[in-house]
Amino acid sequence: MRFDILTLFPSLVLPYFEDSILKRAVEKKKIRVFTHDIRAYSKDKHKKVDDTPYGGGAGMVMTCQPLFDTIRAVKRKNKGPVIFLSPAGKRLTQEKVEKLAKLKGMILVCGRYEGIDQRVIDELADEEISIGDYVLTGGELGALVLADCVSRLIPGVLGASESPEEDSFSKSLERKIEYPHFTKPAEYKGLKVPNILLSGNHAEIAAWRKKNLRK
Ligand code: SAM
Repeated sequence: MRFDILTLFPSLVLPYFEDSILKRAVEKKKIRVFTHDIRAYSKDKHKKVDDTPYGGGAGMVMTCQPLFDTIRAVKRKNKGPVIFLSPAGKRLTQEKVEKLAKLKGMILVCGRYEGIDQRVIDELADEEISIGDYVLTGGELGALVLADCVSRLIPGVLGASESPEEDSFSKSLERKIEYPHFTKPAEYKGLKVPNILLSGNHAEIAAWRKKNLRK
């Protein structure tokens, strides 16, 4: 999977892939991550990337030229969909993540300020995705959320003992939330693990887990 992440702040994005599971995924060549500094594509002599909104109002809007040029350059290398992170987008779900994880790549565009000139979105977006009904300062966290949940579904990214097919929202859990987990010790400061989980009775444990799936 190739992720191309277009941002005004590449340094916010890259460290996430330099530790833990996603670092290993990069090392194992399961994922490749490229960031592109939108400002570097600005033809303005001061490298400006935003301007005041037509019609007035607060804040700045990301201008067309740097984004058109960055996206067009990156599309030559990555044939996947161009996805804009936006509160106006379709809310991300595990079902959507499963579909995205089957692709070879995707281009993730991070907005800042009041957002992006609509003409860029109308011309170049294959889709807009929101990571929830709240407003972030920029699309970078959204791009990282997307890259993270997609990456862990790519075969070989998680360890052999971890099975994303049985996680919360998966088909095998009927899109419900996983049962609660407990680990040793069996009693901690008077707080006990449910007896059934200590019983060694696999059928009863499976039944308990099924009963304890949450909506
Ligand atoms: N003025 C916009 C509005 O009211 O919808 C908010 C812009 S926000 C401050 C700046 C950027 O953060 C957006 O262009 C988008 O890329 C990103 N962003 C904010 N909230 C998001 C969300 N819930 N999901 C995905 N991206 C988000």
